Order: sequence, then C-alpha cells, then structure tokens
Amino acid sequence: MLNIDLHCHSTISDGLLTPTQLVEHAAERGVEVLALTDHDDVGGLAEARQAAAEKNITLVNGVEISVDWRGQTVHIVGLGIDPEHAQLVQGLMSIRDGRKVRARNIAAQLDRFGIHGSFEGACRNAGDGHLIGRMHFARFLVQQGYAKDAKSVFRKYLVKGKPGYAPHQWVPLGEAIGWIRDSGGRAIIAHPGRYKLDKKALDDLLGEFRALGGEGIEVVTGSHTPEQARLFARHSQRLGLLASRGSDFHGAGESHFDLGGIPELPSLCTPVWHDWVGIGK
Ligand code: AMP
Ligand code: MN
Ligand code: MN
Ligand code: MN
Repeated sequence: MLNIDLHCHSTISDGLLTPTQLVEHAAERGVEVLALTDHDDVGGLAEARQAAAEKNITLVNGVEISVDWRGQTVHIVGLGIDPEHAQLVQGLMSIRDGRKVRARNIAAQLDRFGIHGSFEGACRNAGDGHLIGRMHFARFLVQQGYAKDAKSVFRKYLVKGKPGYAPHQWVPLGEAIGWIRDSGGRAIIAHPGRYKLDKKALDDLLGEFRALGGEGIEVVTGSHTPEQARLFARHSQRLGLLASRGSDFHGAGESHFDLGGIPELPSLCTPVWHDWVGIGK
C-alpha cells in the first residue's frame, strides 16, 4: 500500500520539527508522499521540498487555513497549492497578523487570572517571526508547571469558557476555498469529526463547503476514531467528496499518531490523490 500522509506541521507553525527534520522523520517512517500543511503559512515548503528530493519523498505543497463558519473555527487544508500565489500569500499574512492580536488578547486574559509573561513565553516557543498559536501558549503553561501536558492545558485554560480563551474572527470559509482554488489547489475539510456541530449543522457545513468549491474531506486523521472514519467515508461517498488521509502530526509526545502511522482509507473512498500524476499507480 502507498504510504501517504497529507497533514502535518513543522516549526513554521506549531510543530516541533523543522521542515527538514520532519521530512527526515517521514523517510524513517517509510512515508512515500508527504504534504506539509502548516497553519496559515506556506513558509516551510521550499525547505521541505529540498529535503524531500534528497530522501526520495514526493512532497505535496499544503497549508491548513483557519476559517470562521457560523462563529465556529473550522480548518481547511489546501493541497497542491502554489505557495507563491499572491492572493494566497497575502491572505495568509493577514491571518497571521490577526493571530498576533489574538495572542495579545490571550495573554491579557491570562494576566487577569494571575498568569504573567505568557505573550513573551509563547513568542519564545514560536521562534522569531513565526506564526503564534495556542500551542505555543500551551507549551509555555506546561513549562511553568500549570499542567502536565498540552492536552490538559487546552482543557483547563485555552478553550471557550476557560481563563486563557480569547474569541477570534478568522476568514470566511468561501474566501479560504477561493485562495486555495485560485492557486491551483484542492480544498479539504480537516478533521470534520472534531467540530462541535449537530447533524443538521454538519450537513449544512458539508453542503456549503461543496457549493463554494470545496472538493474533499479528511476521512482518516489522527483525530478520528475508527467509527468516525467510517462515518466520514460514507459522507464523502454520498456527497461525491474526495477522501484524504493525514496524521496531523505535530511532534513526538504531542500526537497520538506518528507520520504515516494512521489507518488506510476505507475502500469505498475515492482518494484525493486518485488523479495525481505518478502517485499511487
Ligand atoms: P490555534 O490555531 O492557534 O487556535 O491552535 C490550534 C492548534 O492547537 C491545533 O492545531 C492543535 O495543534 C492544538 N490543539 C487544539 N486543541 C487541542 C487539544 N484539545 N489538545 C491538544 N492540542 C490542541
Ligand atoms: Mn496545530
Ligand atoms: Mn486542524
Ligand atoms: Mn493540523
């Protein structure tokens, strides 16, 4: 079977490995086709491409865009994008600018709760000039001894209703799909099983996504149970959406699944790579 992993993160966003280290790790794990999908940034793709050439891995240009849908954060993966496409580059830059504002708001919330220095701490974890996200706050809070691991930090501090939560308006769904398509890529709904949506809202999201030009959903991801994989395989078949497979790997100890170490797509799915030249044939 083709070992293909179409969702992972490097230090360009909130992963723990540099793009080169990530590709080397993928090679060790026997991954043959890898998409680097950093949050709201394509700045790691050039380095990843160079490393992939050395390791004989096929690199797919990817990104994971944070969008707003009916007041909820939804993640859209773009595969096969052009990282130099002006509209995409500009759009992602505007999201990263918004992240800085949100980070200040998160830090102000934590300050009110008696936790100080989190903006600086999160920036240190993000690395100079890099995108800042909740994971960088999570690591700061773990370093300060507020919780034992990132997962419990999120639960206790960084989600809605908790002390370090700051609401944020991401870009509209249609805009992100537009950037992805206009740059030559395919838009995929990331980890659809993770959103807190009832059945009707989920159907609405899938329908709207498709009407706006979205082409696929992640069926097998590090955040789906086997049951959810079966459920979304059926959704993909019913709606004529392509199916994707990705670990959402962020680093050892922070992800349940290693690169490539997730189940195969159910056989009823049409893989998102079915028409990619030279892949999986
Ligand atoms: P952000 O885009 O800055 O809001 O951060 C979202 C990222 O935080 C996700 O991509 C994950 O890496 C991480 N994350 C979100 N929720 C959790 C959670 N419950 N446990 C661990 N990591 C999480
Ligand atoms: Mn992440
Ligand atoms: Mn995501
Ligand atoms: Mn991700």
